[in-house]
Amino acid sequence: MTEKNKEGKTKATVSPKPSAPVKVSKSAPIIVKKRDLSPRAIGLEVLARSYLGEMDLEMAKRRALRYENRQISDEEAVLALLTELLRNSEDMQQKAKIMENIAEYQSSIGEDPRPVLREMHKLELNIFKEIGFEKVSITSRKDTCAQCKKKDGMVLSLEEALGTMPLPHPECTKLSHSRARPFCRCRYYGEYIG
Ligand SMILES: [Zn+2]
Repeated sequence: MTEKNKEGKTKATVSPKPSAPVKVSKSAPIIVKKRDLSPRAIGLEVLARSYLGEMDLEMAKRRALRYENRQISDEEAVLALLTELLRNSEDMQQKAKIMENIAEYQSSIGEDPRPVLREMHKLELNIFKEIGFEKVSITSRKDTCAQCKKKDGMVLSLEEALGTMPLPHPECTKLSHSRARPFCRCRYYGEYIG
């Protein structure tokens, strides 16, 4: 998948394998729109992206009650389901997508999404590396914080990116609050040379 940027350079997002229709692309950012929704409703929205629903949520809660003898909250059940999906997924693209969903959900319930985001970015960089990219650029969205904005457009070698892990930005101000939502959604894009 390619697209032209302002300078006319060809940028590439990671192409999925033919069997995996999940794309990491600029055109499909995840936006938390309805912030007044309950954690359960937001959870169901996030789960729906992986074709899971109300029934799965109830099953997760029943399983915890039956096998662990404890009552779990909707939040915990949503995260348990997403974590299970992540564990069962073989596809790196799919895993990155699930990690993004986990981070988004954590953020929406006031948990720190950074550890999962870090894993997600690391995985993305490794996907670019495996495909044969040598460089990546950082792209931030319009609603990004001032710190992240500074890194917008930065181009760096894959080795450098994997070594320094600039995303998530350690000084991102949107992540420093206890109820950090929404977090900055800076991304890496593969850069073609020449
Ligand atoms: Zn930021």
